Amino acid sequence: MQITVQRYGSFLLRYLKPQKRRVLLLALLLLTTIGLKVINPQIIRYFIDAAQTGSALDQLTTAAVLFLIFALIVQGLSVVATYVGENIGWYATNSLRGDLMKFCLGLDMSFHNEHTPGEMIERLDGDVLDLAIFFAQFIIRVLGNLLLLVGILFAMYLEDWRIGLALTVYSVISLVAFNQLRSVSVPHWKAARDASSNLFSFLEEQLSGTEDIRASGATDYVMHNLYRFNGQRLQKERKAGLMNTLVIQTWIALYGVGRILAFVAGFILFQQHAITLGTAYLIVYYTDAIFRPLREITNEIQNLQKAGGSIGRIEELYKIENKIKDTGTDHLPSGALAVEFDHATFSYNADDKILADLDFHLQPGQVLGLLGRTGSGKTTVTRLVFRLYEVTHGAIRLGGVDIRMVPLADLQHHIGMVTQDVQLFRASVRNNLTFFDTTISDEAIMRVLADLELMDWFSTLAAGLDTELESGGKGLSAGEGQLLAFTRVFLKNPGLVILDEASSRLDPATEQKIERAVDKLLKNRTGIIVAHRLATVQRADQIMVLEGGHILEHDSYDALAANPDSRFAELLRVGLEEVAA
Ligand code: ATP
Ligand code: MG
Repeated sequence: MQITVQRYGSFLLRYLKPQKRRVLLLALLLLTTIGLKVINPQIIRYFIDAAQTGSALDQLTTAAVLFLIFALIVQGLSVVATYVGENIGWYATNSLRGDLMKFCLGLDMSFHNEHTPGEMIERLDGDVLDLAIFFAQFIIRVLGNLLLLVGILFAMYLEDWRIGLALTVYSVISLVAFNQLRSVSVPHWKAARDASSNLFSFLEEQLSGTEDIRASGATDYVMHNLYRFNGQRLQKERKAGLMNTLVIQTWIALYGVGRILAFVAGFILFQQHAITLGTAYLIVYYTDAIFRPLREITNEIQNLQKAGGSIGRIEELYKIENKIKDTGTDHLPSGALAVEFDHATFSYNADDKILADLDFHLQPGQVLGLLGRTGSGKTTVTRLVFRLYEVTHGAIRLGGVDIRMVPLADLQHHIGMVTQDVQLFRASVRNNLTFFDTTISDEAIMRVLADLELMDWFSTLAAGLDTELESGGKGLSAGEGQLLAFTRVFLKNPGLVILDEASSRLDPATEQKIERAVDKLLKNRTGIIVAHRLATVQRADQIMVLEGGHILEHDSYDALAANPDSRFAELLRVGLEEVAA
């Protein structure tokens, strides 16, 4: 991908502007160090010439001490410059990471369905890391080295234009040679990196599936593949390593040639008495000093290209349009909410209709039981109410207000949702329950836990509310996970509760606990429950059976149960679990 200089520039500007003072300081540090680096050899020249002409000892001592002081200052300033540069890089990339994360979290769910977590991590961190190097080092290395190069060449021209010219030609040839070499070796490095990333993604996949691999006896297959990936990596690494040696050898050769030329030129000019011995030394010194900037500039060009790729990908990400616009300003009424689906139609992808023309009304405080075969669209209905996706036609209204007119934060505040699989985060129990809302007191949490009969579980926690939970809720039973999710909803006290019941079976004791919790949860609230068990369905005022995205039947519980021809009556007869699943 080709990135224009302007785009690099605007990117740099956007993240460096807030750190103007730090950048200015860095520039100052760099200029000072470069100046000192160019001047310092002049002191040695003075020293050599003065020693030759038999100057007084204290003059020589002054020169030597001055040289040492300058050298120390250069070292000291270099450390400070690197520190400031790294800081600039980290500040810039951290705020970039923040921007990207915020942007991605705000994108609608269809975006997250299309992009795997691994891909997002690579975007949020891998790309940004490349940029960190760009931010932190590009300025120091490229600009600094370019300036140093120019400074040295300038100083040489001042001495003798022929030497200046020779050194310029040498610099140009070296730069071209380095660049050529780089373009030969980079593809090999890329291949080596690809091979190792293949190996790691293989390892990651296999390790996360350890349980299944063992159970299915696929260990041999895994080991075979491991050897294969390892072999490929070795091959690529070896090639890349060889290429690297070649590059280094060429550097050394060029360096040697430069030194020889400097010595020869210095020697000849000195013989002809065109220059002093000190100046001859100066030539050798500058030729030496010019080598590092040349090499570093070449390296940085590679970083620049990497950064270019990252900037391209980041810009691409920013171009993705959020399908869900958070522009509403209306507010939902407090208390139990009425729910209305007004001819709502929806599909995940343009071609297949998941829900077609859904039309129903639910009074505040009523409970709707949602039934249907697996894949009939029950979970999809709940996602639409929460506005994780947008209806393609029709509208959904809560308490008479179109949900598109309500700020998303307001919507989240008024709806409590318990999904089929509860997500627990790697954080303390308290934060898992309050979602980092610090206004909720510990007493309130404890009250709800007691209310939901979770005290037995709570008493097993080593550090009470401060106990850290493992990500994914490891160490919790499915029932406990569900009850914790209920606790969250209670603490939020919403007007509408959506309960997508887990289809996994629980032991009877836990099931009863959950039943009691659901009863409490639905008190004085409107509820939509996707039920897989008879006990859960029985508390519904209305029953809706979905099939293939249509409403197959929808009526009050009693009416449907009393009608022997209804699907619901049939479900009740045969048992919910058997037919609905
Ligand atoms: P279950 O009882 O198994 O939970 P469900 O009634 O909740 O089933 P949904 O999850 O709403 O079913 O899915 C309805 C249809 O939409 C299914 O055909 C499913 O394949 C499809 N679907 C669900 N989620 C997505 C998604 N993120 N992207 C594309 N299609 C999806
Ligand atoms: Mg579902």
